[in-house]
Amino acid sequence: MTVSGDVKQVFSAFIGIGSNLDVPKGQIFQAITEIAQLDDTTLLQQSSLYRSTALGADKQPDYLNAVVEIATALSPQALLEELQAIEHHHGRVRKQRWEPRPLDLDILLYGNQLISTDTLTVPHPEMLKRHFVLYPMAEIAPVLNIPGAADIKVLLQQCPMAELQKIID
Ligand code: ATP
Ligand code: MG
Ligand code: MG
Repeated sequence: MTVSGDVKQVFSAFIGIGSNLDVPKGQIFQAITEIAQLDDTTLLQQSSLYRSTALGADKQPDYLNAVVEIATALSPQALLEELQAIEHHHGRVRKQRWEPRPLDLDILLYGNQLISTDTLTVPHPEMLKRHFVLYPMAEIAPVLNIPGAADIKVLLQQCPMAELQKIID
């Protein structure tokens, strides 16, 4: 029995991390540390790093990507705002989509919720076809249903690894 009655529900959430500026490896490891330090949040798992060529690229540097799983009692919107604060603190200035950036943090999944607001769409709509999201995600969650879509194994079969490289340290 709780005395306060103020019990927070905890959800598993997956966050996609990308960087192609200013020492991407350092940006990603620092971001993971900061995510792990968020209030009401625990880091559960982190993938390896993966290297991919930039989307819509005009000679942008390659990206490094990773996916982490957290347990969090932050609401989806509060989590988005915390992640945007971390991006900002890493020098991200939002000008246009898919421009080079020191850090991009996207909410891929939040529990098994389907979310569609002005600021947030979850599952992340592009993740279903992005090799740099699906492969690191499957590394840490090989058995996973993507709400409104399919099992990750099915999505992987439809998404070639192509030039994506898993980085083995
Ligand atoms: P993409 O969404 O294709 O990966 P991007 O990550 O470069 O592109 P951003 O500039 O980081 O796009 O984000 C643009 C807006 O997307 C944000 O202001 C945010 O409100 C919105 N957004 C919608 N759904 C999500 C989500 N699941 N995770 C993060 N941001 C989201
Ligand atoms: Mg993104
Ligand atoms: Mg983003």
